[in-house]
Amino acid sequence: MWVKIFSIVALLLFVSYEGFAKAERPEYIMVIHGGAGNITPERLTKEREAKIHAKLNEALLAGEAILKNGGSSMDAITATIKILENSPLFNAGRGAVFAANGKNELDSSIMDGKTLNTGAVSGVRNIKNPIALARAVMEKSVHVMMQGKGAEKFAKKHDIERAPDSYFRTDVRWQQLLRAKANEKAQLDNPVDYKFGTVGAVALDKHGNIAAGTSTGGMTNKSHGRVGDSPIIGAGTYANNESCGVSGTGHGEYFIRATVARNICAMMEYGGKSLKEAADAVVMKQLVEMGGNGGIIAVDKDGNYALTFNSAGMYRGVVASNKPATTVLYSSK
Ligand code: ASP
Repeated sequence: MWVKIFSIVALLLFVSYEGFAKAERPEYIMVIHGGAGNITPERLTKEREAKIHAKLNEALLAGEAILKNGGSSMDAITATIKILENSPLFNAGRGAVFAANGKNELDSSIMDGKTLNTGAVSGVRNIKNPIALARAVMEKSVHVMMQGKGAEKFAKKHDIERAPDSYFRTDVRWQQLLRAKANEKAQLDNPVDYKFGTVGAVALDKHGNIAAGTSTGGMTNKSHGRVGDSPIIGAGTYANNESCGVSGTGHGEYFIRATVARNICAMMEYGGKSLKEAADAVVMKQLVEMGGNGGIIAVDKDGNYALTFNSAGMYRGVVASNKPATTVLYSSK
């Protein structure tokens, strides 16, 4: 009997050890998000759910095709984010939310973890793919961040594709603006009701290079000229080959105040924390204590990933050389 008990205990120990065994380092990996917020099964029809899964999968597979062929993480995240920007399902590019003045004012940024080079744009209008403009700022200017009319002029000079107001406008977003205006006071008192839906991608390529990018219309009914976290390097986006890459989504004012993306990487770099520990410390503790709603996606230099959020849900996905594309919308709690 003791032998039997001993072998059961040994088996259990073995099983739990296996469960915690460090996953093999993937050759490449990509994570994406399509926004966080009050996302629950009751709020989405089955049809919309299916559409969101399909678009997230399409975006993941486009990025994976590049990574699999030995392409760069910068190219992979650019291609992936463009697909999400082109879809009216997300709050970026086409289908972006409206500012209080009834316009779409778009924010985006991108960062290369190898060189720490970065490009960002804020408050731009009529730019089909703000991520492409952010990348052009990085590659074709001596600057890091450009805004408004100046950024639009720069886009023209560099043949960045433009689109008329009507291209960005969806009725769903317009109705959200009208509702937000009717509820202005209630929304300010209860920012959890704000609609999120930003998009982002982070990848580690076969050459060990990490890149991160984020694109958004910001928050419904935001003041004209308001800048969120998405174009702020260190807040909504950060990448460094020495530690990790991060893209965030949520109530931007808090993400800026908590320097969310850089903070997670810095905790790894200087504090010896694992990616999971760092993401939990910032998203599940620091942001929660401040009252900041949202989440992050991240990949570290060893190919570990985190999809961490303190909101009801976050549209998210992952694909890696050793993991087929997987997408999830709600909390798994
Ligand atoms: N973080 C974005 C902002 O505050 C909004 C979002 O993630 O949906 O502009």
